Amino acid sequence: MIEVKNVKKAFGKQQVLKDVSVEVEDGQVVVVLGPSGSGKTTLLRCINFLENADSGQLAIGDTCVDLKKATKKQILEIRRKTAFVFQNYNLFANKTALENVIEGLVTARHIPREAAIKRGKEALDWVGLGEKYHCYPCNLSGGQQQRVGIARAFVLNPEVILFDEPTSALDPELVGETLDIIKKVAGRGITMIVVTHEMSFAQDVANKVIFMDEGIVVEEGSPEEIFSNPKEERTRQFLSRII
Ligand code: ATP
Repeated sequence: MIEVKNVKKAFGKQQVLKDVSVEVEDGQVVVVLGPSGSGKTTLLRCINFLENADSGQLAIGDTCVDLKKATKKQILEIRRKTAFVFQNYNLFANKTALENVIEGLVTARHIPREAAIKRGKEALDWVGLGEKYHCYPCNLSGGQQQRVGIARAFVLNPEVILFDEPTSALDPELVGETLDIIKKVAGRGITMIVVTHEMSFAQDVANKVIFMDEGIVVEEGSPEEIFSNPKEERTRQFLSRII
């Protein structure tokens, strides 16, 4: 279970998260929707301490931390339980696909290199990149680079994977294959929080949809509730613009 409570975050005078709380059950896929600038990415980044929240609490399994006052040890513990998939892949350009995938296993998890290589190859096979172990990111398509990013997250066997608009940097013809891999990850029962504008993905895969606007959770519910019967006018307006 992941519980994010009363998160607040400002950049200068701009209050980007105004008191956001989210609960995710184990194995659930939660999709976060909302207009540009509503705070979706900032929320994910606060969960992983890529951004320091101004206040709030976070619990992942049995690890409970204060987002503002967490110690270095607590931050490391949370990072061990989470993995992040970035919009722009964030691969090391000077490392091969396999080296990218095993980096976290070797440096953060201290897994012996040979065992890490075995796991890394399995993860790359699983995302359909068995032929590309030794390719550098510049020789992979955007979709393939993102699959490396997903393999890198998956191989860590985290309690939750945080996906930040994983397909929005891709050419339209590469979106489907990447979403298929994300669905495959969901099929393995991994807890996931996914920020995306892909409505059909949200409808097909999400257990819960959260709609954010202007730094608050406006509404949350099952995909049926949010897409077929939204209660809030702001949700209705947003959906009518993009569906
Ligand atoms: P999008 O769908 O466009 O990615 P979002 O809902 O994910 O939007 P965020 O990226 O969380 O929104 O940004 C929310 C607001 O916070 C935006 O106005 C953004 O400009 C601002 N912001 C985000 N990161 C920073 C930062 N590091 N410094 C200053 N302002 C920031």
